[in-house]
Order: sequence, then structure tokens, then C-alpha cells
Amino acid sequence: MKSRVLSQPVRDALETLVIAVDGTAGSGKSSASRGVAEALGLRYLDSGAMYRALTWQLLMNGVDVTDADAVAANADSPEIEPGTDPRKPTIRLGGVDVSRQIRSDGVTAAVSAVSAVPRVRELLVAQQRTVIGPGGIVVEGRDIGTVVAPDAAVKVYLSADPAERAQRRSAEALDSSPDVRAVQADLLRRDSYDSSRPVSPLSAASDAVLIDSTYLSLTSVIDQVVDLVLDRVGGRQ
Ligand code: C5P
Repeated sequence: MKSRVLSQPVRDALETLVIAVDGTAGSGKSSASRGVAEALGLRYLDSGAMYRALTWQLLMNGVDVTDADAVAANADSPEIEPGTDPRKPTIRLGGVDVSRQIRSDGVTAAVSAVSAVPRVRELLVAQQRTVIGPGGIVVEGRDIGTVVAPDAAVKVYLSADPAERAQRRSAEALDSSPDVRAVQADLLRRDSYDSSRPVSPLSAASDAVLIDSTYLSLTSVIDQVVDLVLDRVGGRQ
């Protein structure tokens, strides 16, 4: 990664900036977003972790996640607190960090159905906007540039070839030897579900910069996004 020296005026400008990073499952959004936030000294919000935490809670409470009315009726109660330190992402549910639990196969299988429920989006989008506050943050998700923060100064839409995404996800899976083809099928299932839902579907904002990360290293993606941000605030040397 390029090393950068940020002047005080640039740091001040960054404090009010929102950087939206949307894209498909496994496109490298999380690693890239965290890397950009670290490089620029910004906060970081993983909106997907919030949908996952709610899904975990519903599953724990025995709610039928395929029943949209039941999901909506139980969406209000959980106390979800996302951490915003890019070096140590946390997500607390009722005060307990559930970062590991929300990556389980059960949550991954159920989260798209839960996140398609309008009441769920209403609640979590409102909370995401509160966390974003005055800015100084990199936010990753599916609808950040289109719905959550349509005025974001920098919008990026990340994609990658499905086979490459499946390889990446398999390498970071909790299960030591996942079937890569099954992982790919699951990614495509979630992409299709997330892109076709009526409320806030996954889509690139018309003013987003599209980055295909299939043949790019993580460092190179981070550098490209950091350059976009610094161009925006006049901080590129
Ligand atoms: O980013 P991640 O893969 O962890 O997101 C899990 C799921 O949460 C997505 O498949 C999608 O259904 C949902 N999600 C969403 N809107 C967001 C972020 C995630 O609907 N902004």
C-alpha cells in the first residue's frame, strides 16, 4: 500500500466525508473498506453485520425467518451495537459480541430473507444513519450509495468474478474445508435474492465508481479507493 502523509486541512475535510462501498457478496468489500478506513484514519461501519446480528437473534428466538410478518413483529427489540474501529470490528447484541456467531452457515442462509423485510430495513437504515452522523466514515453494504447515504462524497461499487469470490470466501470460512462450488452457489443465490427484492435492492448508484477486483490485489483496491477519496478532498500529492 502507498504510504500517505495527510495534511491538517485534508484531515479536517475527511472528518465530514462519507465513503460508501457497495457490492456483491465476497467482492472484497469488508477488507477493502477496513483498509481504506485505516489508511485515512476514519471510522468503519459494516452494515451487513447488523442484518446478520438481527438474523442471529431471530434464529435464537425460534422465529420463522421465512415468515415476513413474524420477522417484522420481532425486528424492534434487539439492541444491536456495531463497533466502528476498522482494526477491531465488533457487533454487540444485548451487550455481547456476536462477531463469530453472525458468520455461521445458518445466519448466512437466512440473512437475505430477513433483510428483505421492509420493517427491518426501516429500523436498521435509521440506525446506520445515526452511526454515520456527521461523517468521517467508510460504510459498506448493498444500498449505502443508493439509500442509506445517497449524498456520500465517494461511492464505490465492487464486483468480482463469482468463481474468484467463492475462492476468497472459502479461504476465510469458519468451516475448514467448504465445498467451493457450494459456496459459489450460495453467493449467487444471495446476489439474486438481494438484487431482486422490492425494497432497496443491491444495485450500483449511478454516480458510483465501479471496480472489478477479480484480478486486483487487496492493496491495489485500497489504493484506488484512497486515491478517489484524496482526489475528492484535494489531498493527492
Ligand atoms: O455483507 P454481508 O455479506 O455480510 O451481508 C449479509 C447480507 O445482509 C446480504 O446478503 C444482504 O442480504 C444483507 N445486507 C443488506 N443491506 C446492506 C448490507 C447487507 O440487505 N446494506
